[in-house]
Parts: sequence; structure tokens; C-alpha cells
Amino acid sequence: MTSESSKLAFNDGWQYSPAPESTDHIVIDEQYGLFIDNEFVEPAEGQYFDTINPATEEFLASVALATDADVSRAVKAARKAKNGAWSKMKPADRGKYIYRIARILQERAREFSVIESLDGGKPIRESRDIDIPLSAAHFFYYAGWADKLDYAFPGRTSKPLGVVGQVIPWNFPLLMAAWKIAPALACGNTVVLKPAETTPLTAMKLAEVIRDAELPPGVVNFVTGAGDTGASIVNHPDVDKIAFTGSTEVGRIIQQSIAGTGKRYTLELGGKAANIIFADAAIDQAVEGIVNGIFFNQGHVCCAGSRLLVQESVADEVVSKLKDRMETLIVGDPLDKNTDIGAINSASQLQTIQSYLKIGEEEGAEMHQSSCVLPERGYWCRPTIFTGVSQSNRVVQEEIFGPVLAIQTFRTPEEGLEKANNTPYGLSGGVWTDKGSKIFQITKKVRAGVIWANTFNKFDPTSPFGGYKESGIGSEGGLHGLNAYVELVK
Ligand code: NAD
Ligand code: MN
Repeated sequence: MTSESSKLAFNDGWQYSPAPESTDHIVIDEQYGLFIDNEFVEPAEGQYFDTINPATEEFLASVALATDADVSRAVKAARKAKNGAWSKMKPADRGKYIYRIARILQERAREFSVIESLDGGKPIRESRDIDIPLSAAHFFYYAGWADKLDYAFPGRTSKPLGVVGQVIPWNFPLLMAAWKIAPALACGNTVVLKPAETTPLTAMKLAEVIRDAELPPGVVNFVTGAGDTGASIVNHPDVDKIAFTGSTEVGRIIQQSIAGTGKRYTLELGGKAANIIFADAAIDQAVEGIVNGIFFNQGHVCCAGSRLLVQESVADEVVSKLKDRMETLIVGDPLDKNTDIGAINSASQLQTIQSYLKIGEEEGAEMHQSSCVLPERGYWCRPTIFTGVSQSNRVVQEEIFGPVLAIQTFRTPEEGLEKANNTPYGLSGGVWTDKGSKIFQITKKVRAGVIWANTFNKFDPTSPFGGYKESGIGSEGGLHGLNAYVELVK
């Protein structure tokens, strides 16, 4: 089917009727304070900022803007808990608290999913099937380790690092919080976490869960704010470790400000992953993989398959099938269960993406977008591909963090690999082929932390996640993730 005929088939034919998830059961307060010592408290300077729904531009809640004084108060609470109740507790009891968090998250999964989609713009299908269940799974997984650290580090004795400062982005708000909090607690640390400024609400709900689970006050604290609040955590002298997920640019600033302080750190940064498709791959399956890799969560995924490297002999077929598939993708209301692509997270992220669309065209690439109708309000971007790009193009080298795919071709496996590895990043990659031997041969040579074969964007709490080169330092998830929160003393 050509792209033109598919347009007819899908646009003139039947449509799914709307199936929006209900918001009746959702309670969002008008205003949230800072969560310190298991209580919501006023920020010292009394300032608040708004978080909106990016699909409608409507106000959702206002949250506290934490300044240095507030961060100090949170760090003090965390220090007190670290020296007190939390370290004196038996590891098995620490585990029980983490299990409690996991179970409450499961019980309240529907509510969390809807709030995640409202605040961040991601399709409910993803928050419901991926973000929230995986968040609970991380708490379950690390709860299990709390009293087994001697087995995690055989022959060694581990000690918690102390007070951990954690700063996270807006693309997987609850999941990133879970990735950071669960292993930190399992190892006996206490936490001060800052969610991203556009998506603070599931962290505020997680605060309620932590209070309801009756964790000792001060074990987990949330401060809200933007970059300055993040910097205030990073630079606080009584923080022992910084765990950061976000842009490479901010990661660099953090690394510089930590240098020489003796603080530990892990940085999970950007990516520019390639899906490498060989001529012998199952093409329809690979096209689904490409779609999942770059259009999933609006391309707001650090390990997104934002580049496609396709073997020349099947390039026309793959691109034509991809264009057909793009026409069927439903862009719109994140709360609708049929939606494939939700809202771009913020006006500024949309602007960034749009500037890259212009850059791509100026660089001489050919742009193709699906023809869907976009809602009038809110921030939206049609699924987009660029063909005719070259390796040095900015749309090939730089992270766009939107539903934008750069497509190149290759002839030999060596050429494919060369191109795949030729960016400053090395977070993830995908290989599509019918030959098992080729999978082993190629995956060994892709310089990336996570590589999927004949699938993409699969996550599990037991497997480590982290990048090479400018994609970061250290790993999260699995045993590696525990390692980042302990000091091995013997
Ligand atoms: P960002 O770096 O601008 O912000 C991330 C977080 O850092 C936010 O909470 C922000 O408030 C805070 N921050 C901003 N400036 C700071 C500073 N100077 N000091 C301390 N904290 C500061 O990134 P973003 O736009 O929110 O997220 C998109 C980026 O995150 C992309 O580059 C993406 O690749 C990356 N990301 C990486 C991973 C990963 O696991 N590797 C996961 C998700 C997102
Ligand atoms: Mn928001």
C-alpha cells in the first residue's frame, strides 16, 4: 500500500470513537507545599509556581518553589532520619516499608496513571501499562534486596552513603522517582528528591504514599522548583551523593560543581540511539519497532530510537511501510485509550523540536509528517521523519527529544556499525535481523549501554540501564543500581 492510498483508507474510513479515561476519581489539591518530615510545609519565601496540563494548557495545581533555605531544611530532616530511625532499623524492616510503598502504588495505579498523563501529556496507555506498573515493580524489586545486601556484594560489607540528593526529568516522572528512591532506601540512605518543574504531581502523590506507608519522618523528602532548586541540592555541603537524570548540558554543570567535593554521583543523560535494520529482518515487525522506538511517549525518551539505519536493499520498502504506519497513528487527547501520541510536555520543548524541524530542512533533508489533524489547544507535534540526511547533520548528531526520526542507509554491516557509533552518545541501540549470529556479532560492537534485538524500549527492574560517552556515568537498575548507593567498606 502506498502512502497516498493508505491516507484514503484510513482517513475516509471509520474512526475510533473517543474513549477517554475518567478523571472523576482524581483528587489534585489546588496547592502543594514541600514534603519534609512526612508533612507538606510552606516554602520559606512563600513562593509557588503552576503546573499545567500540556494537552489543554489548563492549570492543574500550584507547587512550592523551594529556595536554599528549604533545601537545607529538607537535607537536615534527611540527615536526622539517616542518623536515627532509618539506620537503627533492621534491614528486613526497611524492606517492609519499601514493599508497602510498592503495594500502595499498585492499589492506586489508576489514579497515578491519570495524573501522570494529565500533568505530563503522555498517553494513558503508556502511563497505565508502563510507567506506573514499572514504578511499583522497582519498589518490589529493591524491597527484596534490603535484607540481602551481603548476597549482593559477596564477601564485602556495605554501608549506606548517607543523604542522597536526586534530581529527575519530566519524561517518566514517577518511574524516574522510583528508579532513584527504591535502591537508595534499600541500601539504607535517606533522600531529598526534586521532580521536574513541569511534572511534579505524581511526586506529590508519592509523598502521600510515603506518609501513608508510615515511613519514619525525613527518610524521603520532596522539594519542588526548577534548575536553581536542583543546583541548590547539588551544592548542599551535607549531601553525600547526587543522582541526576536529565540533559547532558546540565549533567556537565553538575559534574563541574561536584568536582573536588568528594560527593559521589551518577549521571543518566541524553541519547541518540539507532535502530539498525538488516535486509533479512522481519520487516513488518521492524517497522513496529521503529514506531515504538521513536513515537512512544512523543519521543520524550532518552533511549528513543531517534535514528534509523536501514540496509539499502530494503530501504524503500521500510520507509514506505513506515509512512503508511505513521498515517494510522492517533495523535491527541492523552487520556483517550486509543491515543498513540500524546502532547509535547511543554511549550519550550515544542519550540526546541520545531527548531530542529527547521534545522533539518535547512540542512537539505527531506521531511515527511503524517497528515493527522492536531488539536487546537495544547502542544503537539506530528510524527516526523527525515530522509536524505548525512552523518554530520545536526538532526543526526543531536538529541531532539521529540517524535522525529532521522533515516540513513548502509550497505555492509561495518558501515551500519560505523554510522551507529558515530555520535557523541551511547545510551541504547536496536538490531533487527533474522540471524542469531548477526545479533551477537553486531550487538557486541554497538557502543551503547542497552541494546535490544528484534524489539525496542523494553525495561525491567533487574536489568541495569546506563550509557557510554556523553550519555552518562554509572548505571541504574538491577544489582548495578544497588552498587551506586553503597560504600563497600571491606
Ligand atoms: P534538564 O537537564 O533540563 O532537567 C532535568 C532536571 O534537572 C530537572 O528537574 C531540572 O529542573 C533540573 N535542573 C536544571 N538545571 C539544573 C542545574 N543547573 N542543576 C541541577 N538541576 C538542574 O533536562 P530535561 O529537559 O528536564 O529532560 C530532558 C533530558 O533528560 C534529555 O536530554 C534526556 O535525554 C534526558 N534524560 C535522560 C535519561 C536517562 O536515563 N539517561 C532519562 C530521561 C531523560
Ligand atoms: Mn504539568
